[in-house]
Amino acid sequence: MVRMLGGLGLLVWAQGYVPRERLVDMERLRLEVRFAPEKGIVYGLVTHVFRPLRSGVDSLVLDAVDLTIEEVRFHGQPVPFRSTGKELIVRFPAALPLDRSDSVSIRYMATPRKGLYFIGWKDPTGRARKQIWTQGQATDHRHWIPCYDDPNDKLLTETIVTFDSRYQVLSNGTLVDTVRNPDGTLTWHWRMQKPHSLYLLMIAIGEYGIERRQTASGLPLLLYYYPDRKECCLEPTYRYSVELVEKLEAELGVPFPWEKYAQVPVADYLYGAMENTTATVFGDFFHVDNRAYLDRNYVEVNAHELVHQWFGDYVTARSFAHLWLQESFATHYARFLVGQLWGPDYYHWGRRTEHTLALAASQKDNLPIVHPNPGYARIYQKGSAVLDMMRYTFGNETFRRVITHYLRKHAYDVVETHDLYQAFQDAAGLSPAEFFEQWLYRGGEPHYRVRYQPIEKGGKTFTQVMVEQIQDTAIGLFRMPITIAVHYRGGGYDTVRALIRERREVVEVPNPNKKPIAFVLFDPGGWILKQVTFDKSVEELLAQLEGAPALLDRYDALLALRKVPLSAKREALIAAYQREKFWGLRAEIAAQLATDPANQAFIRQALQDPHPQVRFAVLANLNPLPASLRPDLEVLLRDSSYVVQALALERLSEAFPRRVPQYLKQTATDLGVGHSVRIKHLEVAALQGDRTAVDKLVDYASVSFEFRTRQNALRALKALNLLPNSLLPHLFDALLSPNARLAAVARECVDYWMQQTRFRQTLQNYYQQRSWSPAEKAILAPLFDYKAPTFYQRSS
Ligand SMILES: [Zn+2]
Repeated sequence: MVRMLGGLGLLVWAQGYVPRERLVDMERLRLEVRFAPEKGIVYGLVTHVFRPLRSGVDSLVLDAVDLTIEEVRFHGQPVPFRSTGKELIVRFPAALPLDRSDSVSIRYMATPRKGLYFIGWKDPTGRARKQIWTQGQATDHRHWIPCYDDPNDKLLTETIVTFDSRYQVLSNGTLVDTVRNPDGTLTWHWRMQKPHSLYLLMIAIGEYGIERRQTASGLPLLLYYYPDRKECCLEPTYRYSVELVEKLEAELGVPFPWEKYAQVPVADYLYGAMENTTATVFGDFFHVDNRAYLDRNYVEVNAHELVHQWFGDYVTARSFAHLWLQESFATHYARFLVGQLWGPDYYHWGRRTEHTLALAASQKDNLPIVHPNPGYARIYQKGSAVLDMMRYTFGNETFRRVITHYLRKHAYDVVETHDLYQAFQDAAGLSPAEFFEQWLYRGGEPHYRVRYQPIEKGGKTFTQVMVEQIQDTAIGLFRMPITIAVHYRGGGYDTVRALIRERREVVEVPNPNKKPIAFVLFDPGGWILKQVTFDKSVEELLAQLEGAPALLDRYDALLALRKVPLSAKREALIAAYQREKFWGLRAEIAAQLATDPANQAFIRQALQDPHPQVRFAVLANLNPLPASLRPDLEVLLRDSSYVVQALALERLSEAFPRRVPQYLKQTATDLGVGHSVRIKHLEVAALQGDRTAVDKLVDYASVSFEFRTRQNALRALKALNLLPNSLLPHLFDALLSPNARLAAVARECVDYWMQQTRFRQTLQNYYQQRSWSPAEKAILAPLFDYKAPTFYQRSS
């Protein structure tokens, strides 16, 4: 799945290194469900076909959280059962024969707070999208199906859903049929042809159109869209979908392993997207138009979930400690695919982002990647960087051979990290024990200190490079092949690839023509995940910015130049801006130069940069906004990027208050993702004393809108410090939302307002005058059930 911190979202509750033990092998699951969506009720009948793995099995224990079990039947007869609130225990009349398939059917009811979500059914105005969708990973299906809820068992699933015929019902596998019922409902029957793990089961119900495409190999793609967003959003949302499948099949050497591939956007989604087998679910904040596409689009997430159809669904981590075998691969190959679409700079830029996040995680702890709970940055970014290092260390061709072998060997099965190691042995004759030990089973990264000097030896000239590993001794030493490149003034360079393994190493790079050194690169291209301390003069940095062949080395020069005064780098930065093709470097240059309004000519040019991130960097770093640039900045009020447009409206309104009425007129019709531009517009209008703008913000905070809009509206009202009574029901609804991201913003607002006497009273009264369920009370009581401290009372 994809996590949402700036990009990709799932919190995985690690359960240990050891796979869960079980008495039976689940072979098939047949689920029949109906819903009462306004009441949030699931009516289910589930049949499990299973096979005892040991003799003497006389009962079946299933995960079942807060389900109302009505009846359990075995061989057509009711059998005794017991519910503990967490488990359902079914007793058979006698011990079952070993290895013979049998089945049990359970009729039950659920009102889940997890696993299955009813969206929009409680909107009194009828404006919200009405949907039902599921999210199984990590272990949430047990909240609405009695099941064996662990990835270590693969089974065939089929889902039979009866619902209002105006809605589409999507599930895993092939649509067997749809049957119209006398009461006007439709029954949808979906069935998987190959086994998968239960957490990958899904259902999504909503009003959708379906765009059908096909890859060259004949795989049907079903692209679900909101009918009211067909014109604006269908194409940008699913851009490159066919190409992604074809490019990935070519890279992996294994065809798409399932019968179809559907993707469906849903409202109020908790994470970014989820790779349910044959049917990915993604947040509808990715169902974007051409303008929103510029700021943030579905392409890399689309790629990430697609990769999971192999890594995660086709081969599945046997236990949570090996989750990197899914997430790191999805992260890595998604970046690989984006690089194929948009060019290698995107691939390398993505690598650097991953390195930065992985190193940041090491500030907190040094847990290894293979661990039951190593944190996001290990499973996603660090693991992805490790796969890059495998390509770097063992060669691309070997890496590809190993991966193809690994996939084929473990098709439709579960895996552990050792299976990947074994694939190196079987497919390439390699035993990369040391690599696996230092990068996967051990935590931390190397920190190299590098210095160099020219030396003469035996009449020859060398550049002597001293490398020290200065990381904590508890982390231990790393053994990696590292390239050192010595670049000379006037061009040309010499390189050496050396194995760096000791705490102190000296590498000598021959300089046969005795050329003067311009700059030295340690690990050019930045392939090794590491920290480096390597002091360079401004002159060396400027030469590196101009002459280093790899994007990331030029970027490193820019980062090191941050602390250098503008006077020493201005001309070089402006020249680099004109040269650089990749937006990331231009944005960094723009951020450094925009801090000085004296660079007006440059700023004017950068405000017209083709990439929105560069324009954003200028706008965000220009402080204050100079009146002489006002006309250039006002152009951004019509910017193609919603993010730039909203920031321009905010900053220009602050800087030039007398022109606000004109700014409001210019931005009156734009919406943005999650109504971002619209809400910024209303916030500025409210500051001007427009009461109707406040009413509109309150409406946007209501249950009639998806969570992004509600978040934006709540934040705007907090910024305005306005808490009208009409907001209270929406605020409390948001506090109680199962969507943690919405609840967090509501919480942030409540914490802020509770510090102010006038609002505290309002909030506490609202809370006390209403009745809440025990679950609601558990959330609300800690926020509102407290007494103001008393300073004058004292007990003796
Ligand atoms: Zn993922």
